Amino acid sequence: LETKKIVPLEKRNQRVVWPHISPYREKNPPMIVESGEGSWIEDSNGNRYLDGMSGLWCVNVGYGREELAKVAYDQMLQIAYTPMTQSHIPAIELAEKINEMLDDDYMIFYSNSGSDANEVAFKIARQYHQQHGDVNRYKVVSRYRAYHGSSMGALAATGQALRKYKYEPLSSGFLHVAPPDNYRKPEGLTVEQYNIQKAKELEDTIIWEQKETVAAVIMEPLITGGGILIPHHTYVQEIERICRRHGLLLIIDEVICGFGRTGKAFGHQHSGIKPDIITMAKGLTSAYLPLSITAVRKDIYEAFKKEEENCHFRHVNTFGGNPAACAVALKNIEIMEREALFERSAKLGRRLLDDLEELKNHPNVGDIRGLGLLAGIEVVEDKVTKEPGSSERVSKLIADCKARGLIIGRNGETVAGQSNILALCPPLSSTDEDMEFISETLKEVFHENIS
Ligand code: PMP
Repeated sequence: LETKKIVPLEKRNQRVVWPHISPYREKNPPMIVESGEGSWIEDSNGNRYLDGMSGLWCVNVGYGREELAKVAYDQMLQIAYTPMTQSHIPAIELAEKINEMLDDDYMIFYSNSGSDANEVAFKIARQYHQQHGDVNRYKVVSRYRAYHGSSMGALAATGQALRKYKYEPLSSGFLHVAPPDNYRKPEGLTVEQYNIQKAKELEDTIIWEQKETVAAVIMEPLITGGGILIPHHTYVQEIERICRRHGLLLIIDEVICGFGRTGKAFGHQHSGIKPDIITMAKGLTSAYLPLSITAVRKDIYEAFKKEEENCHFRHVNTFGGNPAACAVALKNIEIMEREALFERSAKLGRRLLDDLEELKNHPNVGDIRGLGLLAGIEVVEDKVTKEPGSSERVSKLIADCKARGLIIGRNGETVAGQSNILALCPPLSSTDEDMEFISETLKEVFHENIS
């Protein structure tokens, strides 16, 4: 006990807690976070930071919401857990609420994480086709630069360099095509033409692979972790048409985009499509408790109801749909609606882009883009060649922001494995002063880092 008091927390942490993003560990040991309020967190040394990443794209309603803690407490006292063979009131009410938000009839399958939700989606897509006699339809088309999770199937769907780490063989049957990257589109095409061309490339892949072998397409409404790539809405609509044309299911990953992040309840609502399957996590509970959802359109679910043909969906998930987590999700959505946070996300996002407009003149800023409170700044070495910003340059910008009390993210995969895009994703409940702090800090840091 005595030793515990003397050894600093950082040291104790490093000894026993396996950090999630190991490559950065030595240079950038994890911060020990002690508390949070609104958009701000405080570490064990008393330093305060504005969390410009909402944890990691999660804490949509901000930190320190007593209402969420209370609803979890009350629910745990009432009934803390039910096995999968039973249901409970928060599970029913939350499923009804999600349907109201989607404005359609979906069956809600509960699990614990975004990876879980995507695994469930892949299994449902494969089994759905099997039950229609299409036994060879098992492949899933995904996109390069997309992130869909860390488990073997979700990692196989992921189109980033990390899938090539040392975990192969991954689940087979996942294909990748390049997503539209409007900043790097070829000259001579409008954004819309280029996006239609990219959708056509995806369709060509399905045809070359033999469409009878392809079960589904998975995509985010906009690529988040791979560099904030916002497609023209025609792209998303075209992908929906392609799926319908070739009998594929369309899985939309709303793990980050859902629950107001892009300025609407769900990211796919910007293009008016009707996905067959939608996966949700993170913002669903604002990460106060783990919970995820795979929402399956009612007509797809029908295929799983034929008892006599042994058509059950076999997927055991012990903690999925935990009562306290469902109660927290309901309260979280209630808070978002009461405080009009989806609209706030749209408004603050537009304001952020306006405030950062002058940074576009900076020699190392290639592009600034965003939708709702999800924005990316593409750092380049050269504005003409668009050579991605060096790792050192990007690290320095992030470290300088942190030294001023602002946490921002980093992603990209412009070139496999390279992350030259700064990501911003503050809580949707951020105040006007918080937003000013973010844009002023970024401007200062960029102005100090001119080369
Ligand atoms: N899909 C997307 C788009 C994600 O960003 C993530 C996580 N960052 C996941 C799925 C996986 O979610 P989880 O980490 O909860 O498994």
